[in-house]
Amino acid sequence: MKRIESKEALVKLFRELDQSSLFVPPDFEFPLGFTHSFSWTEPGGKRSFLVFEDFSTDQIFAVKFERSYVSGEAKVSMCDWCHRVGSTSDVHLYTARVNKSRTVGSYVCEGLDCIDRLDSMPSKNSMPETLRAQEKAHRISEKISRFLKSNLF
Ligand SMILES: [Zn+2]
Repeated sequence: MKRIESKEALVKLFRELDQSSLFVPPDFEFPLGFTHSFSWTEPGGKRSFLVFEDFSTDQIFAVKFERSYVSGEAKVSMCDWCHRVGSTSDVHLYTARVNKSRTVGSYVCEGLDCIDRLDSMPSKNSMPETLRAQEKAHRISEKISRFLKSNLF
């Protein structure tokens, strides 16, 4: 379990270029506890925010994503992170800033909600029946980690 002590500490987790346009929900209570990761979306749904702990290094990444609309987008899309297949209202192109002039995008579930499934990450006293879910969570986590590390950090 990780703890974020204050709103300022949460903002500081984000890269400088994301900090100016952060939306922190007024109902967030600090200290904020989380396991592995959490995400939230601003009202209106355009920007989503991800706080993610790398499973192998315990490093914490925080990124702002913007939902984009692609003209001529396929009717069905697959989430790059969890491989869920959905309509264009379920899976969107989300972009994150690499620097002032460049963004990088990934097709991800609406509101980054595959993150919620990471709650079943492996632990020492895993029950055998939850192993499948844990393996899946681990795979999603690796995908996210690879995306973040190869593009943004
Ligand atoms: Zn997904």
